[in-house]
Amino acid sequence: MKNFIPDKAYIDPRALKYDVGQISVNHLKELNIPIEISRKVVIDGKNSLENYSKSKKTIYLTVNKQKKLKPCKPSADYQFSLSSSCPGHCEYCYLQTTQGEKPFMKVFVNIDEILDVIKTHIDNNHPNITTFECGSITDPVALEHLTGNLKKCIEFFSNSENGRLRVITKYDNVDSFLNIDHNNHTKFRFSINTRYVINNFEHNTSSFEERIMASKKISSSQYPLGFIIAPIMIYDNWKTEYKELIIKLKKELKDYNNPITFELIQHRFTSTAKELILTRFPKTKLDLNEDNRQLKWGPYGKFKYVYPKEKSSELKEYISNLIYENFENSTIEYFT
Ligand code: SF4
Repeated sequence: MKNFIPDKAYIDPRALKYDVGQISVNHLKELNIPIEISRKVVIDGKNSLENYSKSKKTIYLTVNKQKKLKPCKPSADYQFSLSSSCPGHCEYCYLQTTQGEKPFMKVFVNIDEILDVIKTHIDNNHPNITTFECGSITDPVALEHLTGNLKKCIEFFSNSENGRLRVITKYDNVDSFLNIDHNNHTKFRFSINTRYVINNFEHNTSSFEERIMASKKISSSQYPLGFIIAPIMIYDNWKTEYKELIIKLKKELKDYNNPITFELIQHRFTSTAKELILTRFPKTKLDLNEDNRQLKWGPYGKFKYVYPKEKSSELKEYISNLIYENFENSTIEYFT
């Protein structure tokens, strides 16, 4: 898909002291994006819906001064951020409820300082391997064309004896990563789904074909590779479409002989998320009917609605069988 171009960019004056900040500003100027140097981002929509859509087209180039990284169990030891929020409008995204009414995108330019913090965490855990996730509050590939920061991270981890990076994305902007000597220290995971789920609920993200072709490119560069199938949904034709997805993946990855991991997550929602989704996407086709679900206590202190046991078992069995039948080299890390 075409790289995201914001409608407006705010620039934190501190960002201009960094090379990446200067390069990004020049790039934005070339694109004729309106720029405002400010410590404050102003989103002045007439209502919350307008605030949301304006925010999703606004970036704020700034710095990330976080010194102590948050843990990120179970997927990695720690998480760090090259940006927050993303240009996607996934209706079910859990960030909907955590990033407030104005989820404009912060893009961090002080990459060397961010890498220094990562290095400290690796050194403190020596001689053990320390793993890092960079997609917890953003999509790290969606905004890469503005900074080149993820490429620098992959190069950093390549040279790190004990550091490992995990990337997750719904975007196909991967060409800049293909010729890096990654040293198998970065694992790419693509978030994939059926055509129905992508077309109806994952607006402004790469398409079914684009994501699979991006994963093929990454596989041809021999990166460690995985897929997250999430959120898995039950709808008319779901079996046929999940089968199509796995068969298509198999076809495109036939030359990749390294292990492939799969993470499977069924669709779930909380009452808070439902309320927000219905405000932001009033015509949503998401199944948010509590009568079709059962309650499950979540790790973040909230009940969530998941499929009833017999339905979730059917999902798990059907998709796991498809994966094992088609990928000899695969492991399913979890179904939740
Ligand atoms: S691409 Fe990822 S982070 Fe962005 S809205 Fe979609 S699910 Fe959320």
